[in-house]
Amino acid sequence: MVTITEALERIYQHVTQKSRHIIPIEESIGSIVAKDYYASFDLPRFDNSAMDGYAVKVADAGKEVKIKEITYAGDHAKESFEAGEVIKIMTGAPTSPACEAIVPIEDVTITDDGIILPTNITKNMMIRWKGEDIKSGTIFLEANSKITAYSLALLASQGITHIEVYRKPKVVIFSTGEELKAHYERIEPHQLYNSNAPMFYARAKELGCDVSYLAASGDSIEELQEAVKQAMDADLILTSGGVSVGDKDFTIQAFKELGMEILFSKVNIKPGKPTTFGKLHDCFVINLPGNPLAAMVNFEMFVKPTILKLSGTKGFYHPIIETKMKKEHTFRAGKHTVILGRWDGSSFEPLENQKPGMVSPITQADGMILTAPETDKLAHNQVVKMIPIKIDLQSEKKEDLYS
Ligand code: AMP
Ligand code: MG
Repeated sequence: MVTITEALERIYQHVTQKSRHIIPIEESIGSIVAKDYYASFDLPRFDNSAMDGYAVKVADAGKEVKIKEITYAGDHAKESFEAGEVIKIMTGAPTSPACEAIVPIEDVTITDDGIILPTNITKNMMIRWKGEDIKSGTIFLEANSKITAYSLALLASQGITHIEVYRKPKVVIFSTGEELKAHYERIEPHQLYNSNAPMFYARAKELGCDVSYLAASGDSIEELQEAVKQAMDADLILTSGGVSVGDKDFTIQAFKELGMEILFSKVNIKPGKPTTFGKLHDCFVINLPGNPLAAMVNFEMFVKPTILKLSGTKGFYHPIIETKMKKEHTFRAGKHTVILGRWDGSSFEPLENQKPGMVSPITQADGMILTAPETDKLAHNQVVKMIPIKIDLQSEKKEDLYS
């Protein structure tokens, strides 16, 4: 048996990202960049005006001046102008070396012959400089970073149409258990719908994987091995069930007989002690317990970092949010216990009911906290470290938004 920390170390140590490919940037959201991208030109490409206004000489502050001509965004820079003259200029239009500052349209007084400039003009004001945003030759998108919708602005601003990214991890999921039926099948009173496989499917998709799931396997070694053989072209096989000490718990044996090297088996974690991690040829394997809440907790704890490491991101560690307990919570000491709870942005409230076999608490958990074996109580307002599960926070309360 290993500790949670040791189990995670083995994941960090063994799992590496897969091959790369080149895809259009519009299809790259959520992908992980496979190399550093260097700017091939400055952004802005040329000095330009930050406002709709006038290109002026500083010495003309407070004076009446004539408008020589107008430069629009998309024009070439106008050549030159002398003291006593200004060029009307629109936001984004190029400035010429003759321009010493830009005065916003709102700050001048219009006269019959021209405009009167304000008295407070400082050199270079309201000019956006070539390269002040991105310098040619510098890295503007780092290898192993995740592409978001906002990265596309960056890529497009450099004229990049296609990008080299790591391939999405391929995950194959199957559950084990004679009692299981798929959610679209008819069910007998003694049977149970397979809720783990759709949960893993969706979560692995959220984490950026190509996912497929096989029909649930029966509990015999033969049936299990049949399923394993069908799953072996995956980067990661994920199973649930049949890993405990029951008479029909053959999942690990089935994988072992096919050549799985065990990287850890059994973790000091509650719930989910039997969780097992291994490698079968080129494919990583995580066997989770069948109990839905235990499976979910161990998915978040071990499968998520495995998927993130496979995906090539440098951000594969569990992030921590420091928060405080909304109320006191007591529990049994003796194990590293995972407590699921709601988080409202300022405090953590453990879910009332969170037994390993339950389904209903799973959807309510915003995050989980991990307690040490000697602990049996978390006090009201005690500071705790929460590992987030759902970071897409929403509020049911209209908040005062100003800091
Ligand atoms: P096992 O880990 O196979 O001993 O299963 C533990 C408990 O989880 C049993 O009550 C199973 O019926 C239940 N279980 C196993 N697999 C699933 C699944 N895929 N979906 C929902 N419940 C499951
Ligand atoms: Mg079972």
